[in-house]
Amino acid sequence: MAKCAMGKMRRKGLAIMAVQTIDNAATTVNLGPAVALSCRECGERFDLGPIFACALCFGPLEVAYDLPTGDPEALRKRIEAGPDNIWRYAPLLPVPANVAEKPNLNPGFTKLVKADNLARELGVTGGLYVKDDSGNPTHSFKDRVVAIAVEAARAFGFTTLSCSSTGNLAGAVGAAAARAGFRSCVFIPHDLEQGKVVMAAVYGGELVGIEGNYDDVNRFCSELIGDPLGEGWGFVNVNLRPYYGEGSKTLAYEICEQLGWRLPDQIVIPIASGSQLTKIDKGLQELIKLGLVEDKPYKIFGAQAEGCSPVSTAFKAGHDVVRPQKPNTIAKSLAIGNPADGPYVLDIARRTGGAVEDVNDEQVVDAIKLLARTEGIFAETAGGVTVGVTRKLIESGLLDPALTTVVLNTGDGLKTLDAVAPTTGPTATIRPSLDAFRDAGLAH
Ligand SMILES: *Cc1c(COP(=O)(O)O)cnc(C)c1O
Repeated sequence: MAKCAMGKMRRKGLAIMAVQTIDNAATTVNLGPAVALSCRECGERFDLGPIFACALCFGPLEVAYDLPTGDPEALRKRIEAGPDNIWRYAPLLPVPANVAEKPNLNPGFTKLVKADNLARELGVTGGLYVKDDSGNPTHSFKDRVVAIAVEAARAFGFTTLSCSSTGNLAGAVGAAAARAGFRSCVFIPHDLEQGKVVMAAVYGGELVGIEGNYDDVNRFCSELIGDPLGEGWGFVNVNLRPYYGEGSKTLAYEICEQLGWRLPDQIVIPIASGSQLTKIDKGLQELIKLGLVEDKPYKIFGAQAEGCSPVSTAFKAGHDVVRPQKPNTIAKSLAIGNPADGPYVLDIARRTGGAVEDVNDEQVVDAIKLLARTEGIFAETAGGVTVGVTRKLIESGLLDPALTTVVLNTGDGLKTLDAVAPTTGPTATIRPSLDAFRDAGLAH
């Protein structure tokens, strides 16, 4: 019952946009193994198209597949023989079979770093890994979701790519549009970090700062979609959202493949809208169903910043409903106060025996520095959130240090220099003389 109320709350916001149809979508679209869109709430199916809300109940739509059946070993070999990017998983994604030949930024297959120094520091004995998505073309995980949305935009005949963004998405869309030959016009809150603004603008598309927070930007984009002003526009995270979301499954695929086709026991994932977390779970479930990994339990943990913690607050209170918050945190890439997939995140954390936790801004900064000094990885604030939450979950006993654990770093520290700049700098500034260096006391 609680779930129905929650569904209704989620759906209210979507009602204004309802369903947009496109004439030729149903019959001519070739998106590989994708066969339909299905409603996450009521299961109703729709033809593939640039729609995102169920026409019957306004629930969110997801891509449904006709996935390869048969010999898992053959599929594993086929994947391993593929390119060193997300297209190695093309048989499991809503993209045409010849996707690797099309102009795209080809993100993915980022490093899974065995973080032994960090493990020692945190007391993890079961193996600790950092999945480092700062290695993507625009230095965040967003290149994965955009790469898939670009192929959907191509299939549906859009000529302009757009999005509402907390920062990283704007850069990823700008870059992908430049490569793939789309016009782009992206929307961000006006007060983002300089690193995010410059990254979003440098690729030559239009960049619009909106006077408001992300939730205001998102609401504006929803209105634009329903208006003639936005006609012919593919909003990667709105009307292309079902396809966009599938990009996050590749994180699940890569982690398991890089662990030797094994499920990790525990994964710590940052939450903004919650899309990434829910789709990583979907990806893990698919690998089990396809027989690519052994079916065993895994736990999913969600991580938020205290200054924008609607999901962890609901989790800790035992609620099914996520109450919106007004964000105030340095983790701006995660600052979504009204997360669309929040209720599904709660379901997944509870179903898998995981948890959702948050850390304050000071702990985020500490965690960024901890990861940097132990592993040589400079994470953006979102990575500080996951590492900080991992530490907190170990201390509280919710995360088992004896199990194999993967922590996501979803972005590059160079984009959020402001977060660490006030507490980081030269150890000393001296005259260029040996005497001055000796006096500084740094020669051990
Ligand atoms: C967008 C983003 C996320 C997660 O976003 P979801 O909306 O939850 O999918 C995580 N980390 C970074 C750095 C991001 O930019």
